[in-house]
Amino acid sequence: KVVCVTGASGFIASWLVKLLLERAYIVKATVRDPNDPKKTEHLLALEGAKERLRLFKADLLEEGSFDAVVDGCEGVFHTASPVMFSSTDPQAELIDPAVKGTLNVLKSCVKFATVKRLVLTSSTAAVIFNGRPLTPDVVVDETWFSDPFFCENFKQWYVLSKTLAEEAAWKFAEGNGIDLVTINPSYVIGPLLQPSLNLTVEMILNLKNDIEDVNSSIYSCSDVRDVASAHVQAFEVPSANGRYCLVGHVIPMAKVLKILHELHPSLCPPEKYEEANPSEPTYQVSQEKAKSLGVNFLPLEVSLRDTVESLKEKGFLKTFYIC
Ligand code: NDP
Repeated sequence: KVVCVTGASGFIASWLVKLLLERAYIVKATVRDPNDPKKTEHLLALEGAKERLRLFKADLLEEGSFDAVVDGCEGVFHTASPVMFSSTDPQAELIDPAVKGTLNVLKSCVKFATVKRLVLTSSTAAVIFNGRPLTPDVVVDETWFSDPFFCENFKQWYVLSKTLAEEAAWKFAEGNGIDLVTINPSYVIGPLLQPSLNLTVEMILNLKNDIEDVNSSIYSCSDVRDVASAHVQAFEVPSANGRYCLVGHVIPMAKVLKILHELHPSLCPPEKYEEANPSEPTYQVSQEKAKSLGVNFLPLEVSLRDTVESLKEKGFLKTFYIC
């Protein structure tokens, strides 16, 4: 079977390409610059890549850019979207590539009858930001939608870009008879396949500096291996439909800092570790629908351990440790 993955050099997409190759798919993968070895070498080194991975150049903002890659595919995985939490020009840097890019990919899907399903990498950013209180008795589920006005009021531009992109995708898919499934993870962590740092993995290095009040902060995360496997299931399980919240853990930040302290003391200094109270109750995100897809969430300790190991292996942790 032939499938395509947009933004293949990214953190989540690299794992998705790896799983798809392992499952014997022919994978057509888009990157912005196929001649940049930092973006492609780790993909070309994957098992099965030589025989079944083909790279294509595509840009979210170029009309028709995805036609060649979508042509002939049964499954389309659209993961490409800018991931940045600060921006000087949110419309150009985040919103346009997210929304116009998604519509660009959907328009390509309409052109080719081979396409059976589109799996879109959305986010809890498109689920949770609507002003509803997140008290410990609350269980967020797939019926929640973020409110664009709320995102805009709080200048949450990345959140807004994901919310508008998912909204646009549903509208277009419903109007054009596309079988769309979305995967909505929270902060994704786990081992890196690519040589560069990803923003949400990098956050692990800086949590100790970024958190002002350890005991009032909440962290939610998803393991990249669970996220990638959910994408595959979303394509392979015929009954998969609608949105899937894909959140492994919603926990007090204090718990994360305690585990990080044990894994690598430089990641959480003693003062933060000592003031941490890891047992505060938090809101939860329903895993019911994700589990019905066959996703088995990895334990938090495993995700954090493997993230830290990967940071060490790639030399990122040592640099920060010495500093
Ligand atoms: P990465 O930054 O690792 O990957 C993003 C990918 O998007 C890169 O391949 C990048 O290409 C591509 N991209 C960005 N802008 C463009 C453009 N204009 N044209 C073509 N490609 C472009 O991020 P992640 O793997 O973390 O994220 C992948 C998806 O998952 C995104 O849609 C993100 O919103 C979503 N997501 C991520 C979460 C996380 O915590 N990381 C959580 C929830 C959802 P290039 O390599 O050339 O820059």
